[in-house]
Amino acid sequence: MDGPAIRLTGLRKTYGRVEAVAGVELEIADGEFFSMLGPSGSGKTTVLRLIAGFETPTSGTVELAGRDVTRLAPFERDVHTVFQDYALFPHMTVEQNVAYGLKVRGVARAERLVRARASLARVGLDGLGRRRPAELSGGQRQRVALARALVARPRVLLLDEPLGALDLKLRERMQLELKEIQREVGITFVFVTHDQEEALALSDRVAVLHQGRVEQVAGPAEIYERPRTPFVAGFVGTSNLLVGDIARRLLGASGTYSIRPEKIRVLRGPEQPAGSGLLTATGTVAEVAYLGATTRFLVDIDGGGRLTALQQNVETSPADLTAYRGARVGLGWHPRHAVRVPDNV
Ligand code: ADP
Ligand code: MG
Repeated sequence: MDGPAIRLTGLRKTYGRVEAVAGVELEIADGEFFSMLGPSGSGKTTVLRLIAGFETPTSGTVELAGRDVTRLAPFERDVHTVFQDYALFPHMTVEQNVAYGLKVRGVARAERLVRARASLARVGLDGLGRRRPAELSGGQRQRVALARALVARPRVLLLDEPLGALDLKLRERMQLELKEIQREVGITFVFVTHDQEEALALSDRVAVLHQGRVEQVAGPAEIYERPRTPFVAGFVGTSNLLVGDIARRLLGASGTYSIRPEKIRVLRGPEQPAGSGLLTATGTVAEVAYLGATTRFLVDIDGGGRLTALQQNVETSPADLTAYRGARVGLGWHPRHAVRVPDNV
């Protein structure tokens, strides 16, 4: 095929005064696991609906495999959508739900059944084909929705917060399975989520959306380690943003910088380690939070400003931690972990 799996050019969608999508440019490669990450209202669902053809853009174009599909109806696009609420037919069996799309496309009954069963097996639901959706758990319903989308063998699968309704454990398991399925079937996944960990864990590349715009597109590590905007630095993980006077005092530089909390070491006592190559600051611990695997420190820096530091609990026991509250500490970090964030892009 010619061109990337998906190309969005100058894509805009307004509803009255609301600019849901405000000029999006994206190219998504064939076979890519691509995530759109952003807070509620950032335009993720609208972008998906524009790709699927449920909405027509106010301006701009949608291309699939090099073909302009902007004016085509959803069924004329080689794209399938898995919705957050699964949208299963309650009166049909699981098997009928999965086979339904094939029936609409005129696939013969015998082949429909074979393909529906194969698709159910792929998502680990063999044997449950005769149940109705109401007789399944949330995770199983989610799998049915996935099987139904995969059975049509689309080139592109759009997934709108598909794991949003699942509890944490199940969600983590489904994340792994989803990734595995995508690798096996090799089709392009466009995965929408507001959960940054999920986006980082699953994706080849991530687009961070904010107010209808793409703030940054990059691989997970790049997004996390080199945020291009203050919004990305703040939304993807937690970050210490150092601006103006604080940046000058702590880093000796002007501009905006981001330091991830886990890059900052909490040093016992305010003394500065000589010759370590660390930049340091001294301050007073305002808060300590024990988070199980890690402990989070909020430290008020002498002379103004507050930094968050995250420590692995390799040895520390919670009993030690309470002693930290109100204590004087040093903070240390490598200069390279203070990442310059362009102020305006
Ligand atoms: P997300 O999926 O990131 O939460 P949406 O794409 O659903 O964001 O919405 C983006 C913005 O567009 C929001 O401000 C939302 O209220 C608005 N919006 C979305 N769909 C409609 C619609 N059909 N009519 C009016 N406003 C809409
Ligand atoms: Mg949405």
